Amino acid sequence: MIRYALTCKAGHGFEGWFRGLDDFDRQKAGGLLSCPVCGGSEVDKALMAPAVSTSRRKEARAETVTPSARQAAAAEGAGPAQVPAIAAPRSPEQAALIEKLRALRAELTANAEDVGTAFPEEARKIHYGEAEARGIYGAASREDVGELLEEGIAVMPLPVLPEDRN
Ligand SMILES: [Zn+2]
Repeated sequence: MIRYALTCKAGHGFEGWFRGLDDFDRQKAGGLLSCPVCGGSEVDKALMAPAVSTSRRKEARAETVTPSARQAAAAEGAGPAQVPAIAAPRSPEQAALIEKLRALRAELTANAEDVGTAFPEEARKIHYGEAEARGIYGAASREDVGELLEEGIAVMPLPVLPEDRN
């Protein structure tokens, strides 16, 4: 079984279990996937990106596990919203946080290559010097991410923004 971090069109974060790499695509094509928060059927894997440098990594990590983001996810209440996601600005603080996430994500993806589902493999190649060192982002399962982190390869979820799927 593979666990993917997923997001819906409205930006809700949640997780889904799949039997294999093809299972997600099959279920999506069959219209079997829906968001547990809003019921939306336009569901995609959340993007993952490696940290670009040590100093940025610390900053970025702090950003993705910020307590206010956690609280926002918890405040959503319904559904297994285990991936911090931000729906819509409800306070100046939240709006400011979303701006920070947007800037962070723009910075992460500006000079990075979208490698899609080859992300775990490509991240390893770069880490072990088998591929050109560069910023990449793409899709990875929770298990892939765990293994990469154990190998000392820093990866993190890309911030999910409200306008992502609009
Ligand atoms: Zn949703």
